[in-house]
Amino acid sequence: MKINKIFEKKNTTLSFEIFPPKRDGDIKTIYNTLDELAVLKPDYMSVTYGAAGSEKGDKTIKIASVIKNKYQIEALAHLTCVGATSKEISEILNRFRNENIENILALRGDIPIGKENEKREFGYASDLIKYIKKNNDFTVGGACYPEPHIESKSRISDIINLKKKVDNGADFLVTQLFFDNNYYYDFMKDIRSIDINVPVTVGIMPAINKRQIERMVTMCGTTLPVKFKKIFDKYEDNPEALKDAGIAYASEQIIDLISSGVDGIHLYVMNKPEIAKRLVKNIGGILKA
Ligand code: FAD
Repeated sequence: MKINKIFEKKNTTLSFEIFPPKRDGDIKTIYNTLDELAVLKPDYMSVTYGAAGSEKGDKTIKIASVIKNKYQIEALAHLTCVGATSKEISEILNRFRNENIENILALRGDIPIGKENEKREFGYASDLIKYIKKNNDFTVGGACYPEPHIESKSRISDIINLKKKVDNGADFLVTQLFFDNNYYYDFMKDIRSIDINVPVTVGIMPAINKRQIERMVTMCGTTLPVKFKKIFDKYEDNPEALKDAGIAYASEQIIDLISSGVDGIHLYVMNKPEIAKRLVKNIGGILKA
């Protein structure tokens, strides 16, 4: 089923994001993870895509296919276009189609250091979205940034660029993670005011690993609220306590978002089913209400 139909049917969708095992990792490890995530009955699961495209999407395609064809759960395959040609993108889209995958999250990807000035066939994600929509019948999502994208000239220019994604056919949007819901509420007010009316699902990452979160802060410019910093300072050397606190923090964030009418919750579960299970236990009743 196309994901836009799921958004039409449900008040709030629940989805999980997973990533393929790294370069030398055995793809089979992810299948145990999927077994455990599938029983939580998400509305769909997304699979990330390597920006450099070294494996030409092989693992993303394989995993998305298992989600869709073995577990009968809708799959959202990420696809990046940085450095790709339209011929390569067409080939990958054909492979997705051959596996019955109907939904693509169309991204630019991070530009490799030193290649900033190289000419690219697809300059931005909006170009990829236009290309996919023109030639194919996929439901297409795009990324959006309640705290503006790190390269953007300004908050306003980032939102104007987002409008291009939607004007070029994006059916829904998925946010970058954030830890302060106020960024999201301000962002929603602004995007709705310029007629960006597609569903926006919210990316939530439970903070259970200090190093990982610090990496995200550096890479994405995510703000850490004071309340959040206190948790890290107090429990950084106590993984069990940090996990409990991180899950409680994310649960509170999600409850606030759902009661404010968010279209969907997209959990960055970091291939850790235990985290997904605990969060779903905390919010399951609220999601059904
Ligand atoms: P774009 O929408 O192209 O935007 C990039 C920058 O260019 C922004 O600053 C924007 O304001 C600016 N811009 C856009 N259009 C124009 C224009 N016409 N003129 C001038 N400036 C413009 N990365 C991966 O490698 N693999 C993944 O699987 C992956 N999944 C992700 C999932 C989500 C939900 C999110 C939020 C991010 C994901 N990323 C992934 C990271 C993403 O690739 C990076 O954030 C990347 O730097 C930007 O991608 P984008 O699609 O948002 O780019």
